[in-house]
Amino acid sequence: MSLGEFDLIARYFHRPARKAVVGNGDDCAILAPAPGMQLAISTDTLVVGRHFIAEVPAQRLGHKCLAVNLSDLAACGARPLAFTLALTLPEANPDWLEGFAQGLLALADAHGCELVGGDTTAGPLSITITVLGEVPAGGALLRRGAQAGDDCWVSGSLGDARIALETWRGQWSGLPQLSAEQEALAQDRLDLPTPRVAVGEGLRGLASAVIDVSDGLLSDLGHVLQASTRHCGQPLGAMLAADDLPASAAVRALPVEQRLTCLLAGGDDYELLFTAPPAQRDRIDALALATGTPLTRIGRIEPQAGVRLVHGPLDGPHTAVQLPHNLPHGFDHFRD
Ligand code: ADP
Ligand code: MG
Repeated sequence: MSLGEFDLIARYFHRPARKAVVGNGDDCAILAPAPGMQLAISTDTLVVGRHFIAEVPAQRLGHKCLAVNLSDLAACGARPLAFTLALTLPEANPDWLEGFAQGLLALADAHGCELVGGDTTAGPLSITITVLGEVPAGGALLRRGAQAGDDCWVSGSLGDARIALETWRGQWSGLPQLSAEQEALAQDRLDLPTPRVAVGEGLRGLASAVIDVSDGLLSDLGHVLQASTRHCGQPLGAMLAADDLPASAAVRALPVEQRLTCLLAGGDDYELLFTAPPAQRDRIDALALATGTPLTRIGRIEPQAGVRLVHGPLDGPHTAVQLPHNLPHGFDHFRD
């Protein structure tokens, strides 16, 4: 029996409305944000062959396409509310749909984020999700608030997703042999990113600027510096401590050039990069404890343009580190 569009929606994606006034099934979903709250809205698309390979297990893909959207809410300090799902499928394969819905809805339920509508079409596999979150009026975290003298911090660790990608591509020569456990961990970091939602909410009132690291640390730090420079009208740059960048054992074991590429330009990390005045250090350490998420101080915002990488302590004697040759500064769909 073939599965029609409406059977498919009803079977896999119809959910009873909980927080929504009207959930899916009508022409629009109707939501009522709580008094005093503002809506944070973000959209991300994942396309087969671009963002993932066709062979990725459906359940992992379901998780990832919502996770990358929740990561954007986290970067704004917003609490997840609801999402819509625009699904383009080459065929209605029940096994695939079952797995996809499981991965997607498990993460949605974990964050109380309700599926309230979408669109379902036939074509090359592509998934677009729009998430809505809420944040107290005026309390959203933005990219543009960094100031000279602020610390730079990052959540979790960086670079493992890139190891998984390069292992699959097989183009990096001299990669050290990973243990099966390290390989699985790197693959999980690529397929099953953890959106740092609780950290994002906790950073409200602490952080001066926040972004999620999706393209790579240098590229996303560049966005913060650019937005903040424009906002404050003064040149801003950063000094980063190479030895302090949080890395797994697998990333630490890489030759220096590949290690720096993974840490500085890895991509697909979905960690939060944020700046905060030094006076907030204790509260940020407390947030790390409260959320069970490592938060590491990796650098400082400086009153001149450019990013410098150094060996040694930020506040003590240090030496400049040469950035790897041809270090890709993030990813541009129409250039790379
Ligand atoms: P319309 O043609 O009026 O836009 P559709 O026929 O596309 O409506 O969709 C019917 C209902 O099913 C709508 O409420 C829509 O939001 C919902 N819907 C469609 N696709 C999905 C999906 N992939 N996930 C969740 N809800 C969906
Ligand atoms: Mg439609």
